[in-house]
Parts: sequence; structure tokens; C-alpha cells
Amino acid sequence: MDPAVDPVAELEARLRAAVARYLPDHDTRDIWRALEFARTAHAHQRRLSGEPYLTHCLSVAVILTDLLRRGADPVILEGALLHDVIEENKSVTRERLAREFGEEVALLVDGVTKIGGVPFRNPEAMQSENFRKMLLSMAKDIRVILIKLADRLHNMRTIAAHREEKRRRIAQETHDIYAMLAHRLGIAHLKWELEDLSFKELDPESYRRVSELVATKRREREEAIEQVQKPLAERLRAEEIKAEISGRPKSFYSIWQKMERTGGSLDGIHDLLGIRVITETREDCYRVLGIVHDLFLPMQDRFKDYVASPKSNMYQSLHTTVIGPQARRVEIQIRTRQMHLVAEYGIAAHYQYKAGGRVENELERKLGEFLVRGTTEWQAEAENPREFMDLLRVALYQDEVFVFTPRGELKQLPRGASPIDFAFAVHTAVGSHCVGARVNGRLVRLGYELKSGDIVEILTSPSAVPREEWMNQVRTTRARQKVRHWLKQQRLTDSIALGREMLERELRKRRRKLPPEDELTEIAQSFSLEDTALLFARIGEGDLSAQAVGSRAYPEVAPPFVPPGPSAVERLRDLARGPSRGVKIQGITSLMIHMAQCCHPLPGDPIVGIVTRGRGVSVHRGDCPNTFEDRVERERLVEVSWDVERDAVFLARVLVRVQDRPNMLGEIATAIGKIGSNIRQASVSSEEGEAVGDFLLEVRNLHHLERVRRAVLGIKGVRAVDRRQMFPSGTKEEA
Ligand code: MN
Repeated sequence: MDPAVDPVAELEARLRAAVARYLPDHDTRDIWRALEFARTAHAHQRRLSGEPYLTHCLSVAVILTDLLRRGADPVILEGALLHDVIEENKSVTRERLAREFGEEVALLVDGVTKIGGVPFRNPEAMQSENFRKMLLSMAKDIRVILIKLADRLHNMRTIAAHREEKRRRIAQETHDIYAMLAHRLGIAHLKWELEDLSFKELDPESYRRVSELVATKRREREEAIEQVQKPLAERLRAEEIKAEISGRPKSFYSIWQKMERTGGSLDGIHDLLGIRVITETREDCYRVLGIVHDLFLPMQDRFKDYVASPKSNMYQSLHTTVIGPQARRVEIQIRTRQMHLVAEYGIAAHYQYKAGGRVENELERKLGEFLVRGTTEWQAEAENPREFMDLLRVALYQDEVFVFTPRGELKQLPRGASPIDFAFAVHTAVGSHCVGARVNGRLVRLGYELKSGDIVEILTSPSAVPREEWMNQVRTTRARQKVRHWLKQQRLTDSIALGREMLERELRKRRRKLPPEDELTEIAQSFSLEDTALLFARIGEGDLSAQAVGSRAYPEVAPPFVPPGPSAVERLRDLARGPSRGVKIQGITSLMIHMAQCCHPLPGDPIVGIVTRGRGVSVHRGDCPNTFEDRVERERLVEVSWDVERDAVFLARVLVRVQDRPNMLGEIATAIGKIGSNIRQASVSSEEGEAVGDFLLEVRNLHHLERVRRAVLGIKGVRAVDRRQMFPSGTKEEA
């Protein structure tokens, strides 16, 4: 078909010409493969305008070659051609793209697709700088943003096909997000066009006024510029300074902004006049400036030296406004060619440099200085380079994630943050009572690593409290401090309750009650402790024996001999209550209670607690030798009872003696699994035809263990299954 009437062929020809011109040294076969892939994927799709969908993909690639020129690479062009294939064709996946075009291309397409899926719900959040940072952080590669900007530019150029309401929404988003992004990346080239296109949609009346004004003043404007340009060019030739002078087009939007600032009227044509001088060197910029000021009267307050003090997006130029012939004000910008590239293409210019192989250019040197040293003379001079560098770091180093509340509010968190961090960022109460989280509608673990763009919903329960494992799942200082503080507070509360209980029990044995508060305070102070709470806490923590405090309270009463361990009645009561986190001490469940590793008590076993120094109470089986009097001081023993939640699991150690034959271990493991138990650890030793398996099992209680035992015994060749009764030496509980 004739390219003139076939839009696809015409765009394809333009892309082929640009690739031949700018990428002469690259292997470009994959670009054309990507084009064919897109052609197939979008084969039956048309844009609203009626044009084949492929025109959009080709246009995005063409915009990028115009923008990046020699900085374009095959990967970004493949990404551009394929950028909508996942979104628009359900049979194309990220994995398939990775297989066919490589991981880099897949990453670009995936990134563009994801950014397209960000919820633009909350207008305030959308306009925030954080939102733009979020988009940057979502892009693991800055090329994702470049493709997205080109995509948006083409959509804006062809926006007429949409209905008015949708046009306005897209234009607003373009103005708020994408034009600003282009500005922050220093790509004036894209910024102006995105701004003008959205201006035209959002305020068509003003746009029309500005365009008429610009059109009617065109002749006058060209004359005025000529009158400044001519004498300036002559002087520069005379002084032998190489420079290009050109009239500078201004964007409609910037003209309109100026009109708004000055109360809606344009002061003649003054504000339309701009000249740009491009020189070879930085010194030449200042020489040109001297000549300009020599020829024309400068307006004092309009001089800006962005060469010495670059703007935050690395823009550099000298700006001055002079009074030209007929008292017309003319704005003049003076910059080197390199500064011009940065001004027009911003971060994209950075790519052009790289591709051009000019490693030692000014921009990259400065960039390197920033990244390595963080502070330079340049930074000291600059307006706000830190801001720019923060932005760049977000883009390049991905050290932050940006996520949403279900209402569309944006939260900024460090990389690696979990839903718990998010919950504490919302509110302390949300954090403290959090029990679970949904991310993008799906339930996730609390340890889940949040990704930029996630929508996070926290599930809370009034009775929920922070847990110790959270300390390993939080990244923010705020959450860490809150959790640590809570745990510390809780341990103290637990220790106080436990200590009080232990003291009361000690006193009951002496047939005495807890002394009144003022007496207790005196006793506390006699141990150099400030108050009774601290007294109880020290007892509960095991730093002070209940017996010693009892003797201090009632020195006249001798402590009676009571055998350690729970009474028969209490044991029966415990068994009757049956299995229900663990253990309570006289009604107190506590973080300070843990299961002894030597004897692995199970619900149903008679148990006894040993108060350990600083680690609370460790719970042993009643017959564990580590609880025997020769191993532990009597006053450290406390009564404990089972208080187990459904589904809580405990560890049991089991020895299995079997006739040694193949796959015996496999059969045993299967049998154990069938009874609903898990094998945590297993080791097998064999001698003389007999094998001995040593299993550490997860079971719910004694009864559960018995079922496991019977099941294993039922396997042919199993001779004995015993809960391990021996206590290896060296496991003595440190008291
Ligand atoms: Mn698109």
C-alpha cells in the first residue's frame, strides 16, 4: 500500500529511517521481531480514531527515537513497540515476553503496564510529589518512565477521539502527573508539549485566546527579534565567538501562566519575545552575556545565573532580559550546547551522552560526585540539587516503596517494609491491633514485602496485640520502636503479675496474706527497690526469690516444707480442662513462659515451672530430672497449668526401632503425616540389621502423640516406638 495513505506503513518507514540513522552500530533484528509480535498481538484491535492499534505502538517508538536519538537502544524500542501487548492481549504474559525478548524487555513492558494500573483515585494524593516519586520508584529502570511519557504524549496527541468527560480526566492526569514528571526529569521537550495539549483540553477558551494572540503578533514578533539578533550576531563575529542565535518559541501554557500572573492581560508582545544563544564553552556564555549587556540595557532584576547555580533538575543557562529597539523587552537565554541538551532532554540527555561514549562529560562527572561523595562545591552553589538527587536516587536505587490505603492515600515506606510498618504508619492503634493484611485484595502474611503501587488493607482485632516475631518483620524505626516498647511494657506487666502470684503463693504456705500496700512498699525499699511494682517484677523475673521476700515480710514464720510440683487435684483439673498457647501460671498467660527444650512437655503431661533468671518461667515435664531438687533450688519451682489454644502444636521426641529395610523411613514419614503430625527433624542410625530413627514431631497433645505412636507401630518391621525418656547430659536448664 502507498505509505501516504497507510498510516502503519508510513510510521514504520519513519521508525526504520530513525533506527538506521541513530542505531547504525546495533543489531536491530529484535526491534523488527518485536514489531511483528505487536502486529500479531494487536491484529484485530483499532484505536477509537479507527486507526489500527499498531499505529500507537509505532508512534511511541518514533517519539522515543526523536527524543533519545543516538541514546536510543534496541531494548527501549522493543519495549515501546510491545508496551501494550500484555494489557491488550490476554494470551501474552510477562513470562512469554521474557522468553522471546529477554528479561530486560519484559521488565520494561511489565513496568509500563503496572504504572498504567495505578489507581488515580484520590486527587490530592495524585498531585503530591510523593505520587510522582512513586511512579519513578515503580520503574526499576528509568526507561519505563520514558516509554510511559512517550505513550502519554501520543495518547494526548490523539485525544480527540474520546468523549469530553474522559478527555478532561486524561488531560488533568497528564498535567498533574506526566508533565510534572517530565519537568522533574528535566525533559522540557516533553513537558511543554504535554502541558500545551492538556491546557487545550482543560481550558479551551484560554488556549484559543493565546493562540490567536501569538498568531496575530507573529510578524511584529519576528521583526523585534531580528532587531536584537542582527547586531548581536555581528558583534559575536567581530569578537570571534562561535555561537548560534535563534528565536525561541514559547509554549502557549507558559504564556498563559504569565498572563495569569499579570492579571489576564498580555503586556503587548513583550512576553512573547525570546532569543536563545548557544555557545561552545561555559566561558563563552559569560562573554556573550557581557556583549548583550553592552549592546542593550539589561533589566537589573531579571538576571539569573543558572550556570553557576543549576536548577534542581540540572537545568543550566544564563537568563537576562534587555530593553531592545522600540523599548521592547526581550528575554535572552545563553547556554552551551551540552547545557542545551540537558535543558531539552534532561535525564534522556544523560542516556545520549552514555551512548555517545562521552564518559567524561560534565553531567556524569557531577552525577558521580553526588552519588559517591554526596557533597560537592556544586551542591553548595546549587539552588536545590539535593532535591534532584533524592529524586534520582528513588529512580535509580529503589530505596523506597509507595503504597496506598484503601481510600487512596499514599504512604511512603523504606524498601522491604511490611504490612506491619504500613499499619503503624497509618496509626499506632492500627499497628498494635493488626492481625492480618490484604494486598490488592489478597490475604498476605504480615511479613510480606510491600511493593510500590500496592493497595494495602489492614485487618485489626480489638484483642490483638503485638507479637515478638514482629521485631523481625518491621523495617521502619517507628514501627520497631512501638513494638519494642509494647513488648517491654508487656514483659514488665507479666513479670509484675507473675511475681505477685508467686509471692502470694509463698505466703499462703506460711498461712499469711499479702501485707498492705504501705508495708509492701517498705519491704520493697528494704531491697533497694522503689515501689511494690518493681518488687513483684524482680520476683517474676527471677532476680529475687519469693521466699526471701516472704521471710522479710513475716520473719517470725518459718517456711513450711511443701513438695514441689502441682498437687494431684490440680493435675486432674488440668487434664479435665483438656487441650486448649500454652501454659498459664495461676490464670496468667505470659510472654515470659516457654517450653523447656530438654523434655518437650505436651498438653496432658504433668508439668512444673522453673523460674529462670531474666527469662521468665520454663515449663518442664513433672518427671524431668532437670526439675529434681539436686538440680534446682526449691524456691524457683512454680505451679503451672496447661492452657492451650486449638491448633497449637508442641514438640515431642520419639525413638523408633525398626528392622532395617529400604524405604522404611519413607513409610514411617507417610504414616506420621497421615495422622496430621509434622516431622520437624529426623535422624537415623543403624547397626546390625536394626535402625533407630530419632524424630522431633509436631503434635497437639499426648493423645495425638499416642495416635501417631500406634500408627507407626502398625508398620511392618517396626519393633518399638517410644517417647524419648532419657535426658541427654548437657541440656540442664540454666537457672
Ligand atoms: Mn499505550
